Amino acid sequence: MPETDDDLVTMTWEDAEAAFADADAALLGTGSVEQHSVHLPVSVDTLRAEHLTEELVDAAAEHDLEFVRLPTLPYGMSEHHMNFPGTITLDPLTYEDAIVQIGESLARHGVERFVIVNCHGGNREPLSNAADRLVREYGLATHFVHWTDFARERLKEVFGEGWGHAGDHETSVIEHYRPDLVKAGKKEPQNATEMPETASYGYFDRVTDLGGLGDPTNADPEAVAEVIDHGTEEILTALKDDIDAGW
Ligand SMILES: [Zn+2]
Repeated sequence: MPETDDDLVTMTWEDAEAAFADADAALLGTGSVEQHSVHLPVSVDTLRAEHLTEELVDAAAEHDLEFVRLPTLPYGMSEHHMNFPGTITLDPLTYEDAIVQIGESLARHGVERFVIVNCHGGNREPLSNAADRLVREYGLATHFVHWTDFARERLKEVFGEGWGHAGDHETSVIEHYRPDLVKAGKKEPQNATEMPETASYGYFDRVTDLGGLGDPTNADPEAVAEVIDHGTEEILTALKDDIDAGW
């Protein structure tokens, strides 16, 4: 896993005390341990969270921001993928509580602002519930960033509509950062059934046999590098605006 000078894992408690006092916010990446079809590892979302938060921390100074990066939280809410081996899930309330307790720990050390950068759709609801609780119960200014929300239009331009789970987009990101972890010979169109408009699909194997959506043979790591730069800029601009506005 990559490390920067702004990583809590490299700090002593004295370093952390000084870094928290100087930084605008503590930043946590959240991923999942969850099947990503037959060509990608179960760590895709956690790898994305690790690398994409590193991009944010590295580019922060250009936006007059400074973060302390917490260790990425690898486990998430992945019940909908549990019919595929290798998936590990926390139940939604446990996950929500874990995030609240991480934020509470920060608040007890005097941290006033917490940024959650999420890279897994299943985490959305428990994370946004946790963010609300941190604001209301602990007075901790909390920002919830779902990474792909800030690159959605650009992703559609590059990959069309079908860039979902383990498809063109995520395959490209892993080919960009960790090509050694992509089984190129196993990439094939995922042939997922159309998602219902009103019904809950319950478990993901009802939608796709292989485990993914879209067509990973369309992966393009060079194009996704530009999308990553764009998303990084969009997120930092939004955070700076919100912080300057007193949120
Ligand atoms: Zn994913």
